[in-house]
Amino acid sequence: MSSPPDLEGPWIEAGLPHLWLPYTQMKTAPRPVPVTGTAGSRVILADGTQLVDGTSSWWTACHGYNHPHIVGAVRAQLDAMPHVMMGGLLHEPVCRLAERLIGHLPRPLDRIFFSESGSVSVEVALKMAIQYWRNRGDASADAPHTAFICFDGGYHGDTTGAMSVSDPDEGFHEAFRGSILPQIRLPLPQTPETKARFLRTLTEQRHTLAGVIIEPWILGAGGMQFYSADVLRFIRAACDEQDMLLIFDEIMTGFGRTGTMFICSGHGVVPDILTLSKALTGGTLPFAATVSSSKVSEPFLSDDPDAALMHGPTYMGNPLGCAAAHASLDLFEAEPRMAQVARIERGFRELLEPARSLPRVKDVRVRGAIGVIEIDGLDNIPWLKTRFIEKGVLVRPFGSIIYATPPFILNDEELEQLATAMVEVTAEWAQLPRAA
Ligand code: PLP
Repeated sequence: MSSPPDLEGPWIEAGLPHLWLPYTQMKTAPRPVPVTGTAGSRVILADGTQLVDGTSSWWTACHGYNHPHIVGAVRAQLDAMPHVMMGGLLHEPVCRLAERLIGHLPRPLDRIFFSESGSVSVEVALKMAIQYWRNRGDASADAPHTAFICFDGGYHGDTTGAMSVSDPDEGFHEAFRGSILPQIRLPLPQTPETKARFLRTLTEQRHTLAGVIIEPWILGAGGMQFYSADVLRFIRAACDEQDMLLIFDEIMTGFGRTGTMFICSGHGVVPDILTLSKALTGGTLPFAATVSSSKVSEPFLSDDPDAALMHGPTYMGNPLGCAAAHASLDLFEAEPRMAQVARIERGFRELLEPARSLPRVKDVRVRGAIGVIEIDGLDNIPWLKTRFIEKGVLVRPFGSIIYATPPFILNDEELEQLATAMVEVTAEWAQLPRAA
């Protein structure tokens, strides 16, 4: 049943020995699947197979792939000015995008630093928070204001600062334990005990802390763990009480994935610093944003040159990224994306429900365009990936979950194919022979 489909792509053999692959044991991993095209909600393989996409390419392609409006905008920008540095120069696409994106975000968020990837936007957020205290004149040997409170199951990227605030137990950063900055990692404050622990730590460590960083409402790479927005309200109130900075990492949740454009706009809890990336360009170009409130940017505006934020990536504010982001916002404004997310949510709720009664299924949960089947002791992941391809869908289980985060434009038929495959493959997986 599960011999790998013939997927061709002879160029893989030429390049594979010379490539590093992401999160992959390159010696033993199955040959990657050769892909030659994308279109709408489909990923097209070298042998012509079209897979219904359940990944949105790591949660980026919210409008589907190759959307003509985004492609056209990027093409026009390519002719006009593919790139120019932001050192001493400024171009219209970045100015207009800053103004427009701020228009989509709640006040007091009002100033944006554009960079090239989610991890870098997190680095910028951490540096901003640390330098904020220094610029305010509050940092000293006794009160360094350099550490962060972060949370179990959190993931914020693979650069060293981002790793330091991520949960090493999620497996991404185990090899670097001991060589990255120590931070204060706590369980999410969801119970009386964990709330008390959070408040105690925040109060006692206030002078060592630069801020609190969290993925709001959903811990994504930590296994699509959902939690209540009350937790965010609790953390916001505690940070206000202690005059502490709060950073929301909306790199995964931003741009509609959960049914509101952003968690901070949809749930009325506004951070001091916000990071965005992934769907910012609708899945076309690497681009990211770190957005600060006026409270955070204020101490950087000074007659002292040393108060300037010392960060400036070469491709900062890249005009192609700006063009793609503008076009993506056009689509959010012109097309019924939130209604599409709500439709996917309803579809997942109905179609994934039968998985709940399957052996070893621990939980079935849905939030916005995210459908999750959590399994006790998920194994045979390469088998699962191959089986999904045989079923005509692209689903990449990890950790303990089989999950899908499809493009919002998925039609009803594709949604049914995707969700049905998730349930059927989970049922088949449960029957696989296992060592006692
Ligand atoms: N933060 C969150 C919440 C993420 O989900 C990710 C990526 O999955 C990142 C940060 C890192 O983004 P990037 O891979 O673009 O560096």
